[in-house]
Amino acid sequence: MVLAIGPIGGDAGNSSVQQRKGWDVNISESAIAGFERIVRGVENGYHGIVVIHSTALGPAVGGTRFWNYAGEEDALRDAQRLARGMTYKNALAGLPIGGGKSVILGDNRIKDREALFRAHGRLVESLQGTYITAQDVGTTTSDMRFVLQETRHVGGWGDDPSPITARGVFRAMQAAAKYRWGSDDLAGKTVALQGCGNVGYGLAEKLHAAGVRLLVSDVDEDRVQRAAGQLGAIRVLPDEIYGVPADIFAPCGLGAILNDETIPQLRTEMVVGAANNQLLEPRHGEALRARGILYAPDYAANAGGIISFGMDCLKWDREFMLKTVDGIYDTLLNIFAIAEREGIATSVAADRLAEERISRQRQAAD
Ligand code: NAD
Repeated sequence: MVLAIGPIGGDAGNSSVQQRKGWDVNISESAIAGFERIVRGVENGYHGIVVIHSTALGPAVGGTRFWNYAGEEDALRDAQRLARGMTYKNALAGLPIGGGKSVILGDNRIKDREALFRAHGRLVESLQGTYITAQDVGTTTSDMRFVLQETRHVGGWGDDPSPITARGVFRAMQAAAKYRWGSDDLAGKTVALQGCGNVGYGLAEKLHAAGVRLLVSDVDEDRVQRAAGQLGAIRVLPDEIYGVPADIFAPCGLGAILNDETIPQLRTEMVVGAANNQLLEPRHGEALRARGILYAPDYAANAGGIISFGMDCLKWDREFMLKTVDGIYDTLLNIFAIAEREGIATSVAADRLAEERISRQRQAAD
């Protein structure tokens, strides 16, 4: 079956909705305002959407999320939220790339994946390099190798980016320590770490090597055991990690864990972790500030993964890529200084810094 591609925003937006095959949700103009381009693809069992939020700094880059959404409207909303977030994340990391995201609707546990991801590759290819994808929740490096058979505009089919992400989070933690305690030496500090997965365990290894005392939790008992056995970490029950006394709380599991229920429990001076979307709502950045807790905005601290993508797609050499990851330290110090100077939450300061970088680039291009 031929891939049905329908632009539903930006260039070809407006009234083209009726021209598309199988289009079953009514997207209002206001819902797509602020996005450069949105396309969809439908083919035997494949149903995907690509959202390009901004190409102001370069081609839009963002992974492919495979999820059982309630419907297309739900999937589109998620893709838009994530695409916008990628514009900010990429700008803040100083990368010459914009923000985009794609979603595939369906059960991500399916076994036969080649046809689906090749269809997705054709949708990505139709955008002629204005969007570059990679893996995300529900997709793997081997899925990206199927995408690669249809388009070269894909990264994340090589090495797992998690160790690089962990390195960046470690640098963010050092920057927070420097800012708060005047030294970036973490030796002797205690870190309460939530989620001992790919990034969390890598971070725990670095912290252990730096002389940090570790308190760890995970809903997966084997992962906690590994951290306890290999790194001498102390096990904390998942519900108790928020209230455990420590110097730093490092969320490396799920998002939305900084909220009205957990923030009052925190007994740490700072929060620095890898998890995406840690604040349940933007106002929780201010709630942390009000409690005197230094928050390293998640998308600044966890940018190592997207920076490592530069090796696949921007042809960076490893040395340059690692130098850029280590630059997360200076980005964080900059964010903390802006927040202090302007009396705002660090999460707001990070957004401002990203917006400044985008508008400077726009002006230079005009
Ligand atoms: P992962 O799935 O390997 O690890 C997540 C871990 O968190 C798992 O061990 C899981 O059991 C645990 N977990 C889930 N719910 C928990 C809970 N309530 N309490 C304690 N532990 C819990 O994922 P990952 O690749 O390590 O990513 C971790 C986080 O970092 C995610 O939010 C991800 O979006 C973000 N992130 C990852 C990368 C990367 O390079 N992998 C890059 C940027 C951001």
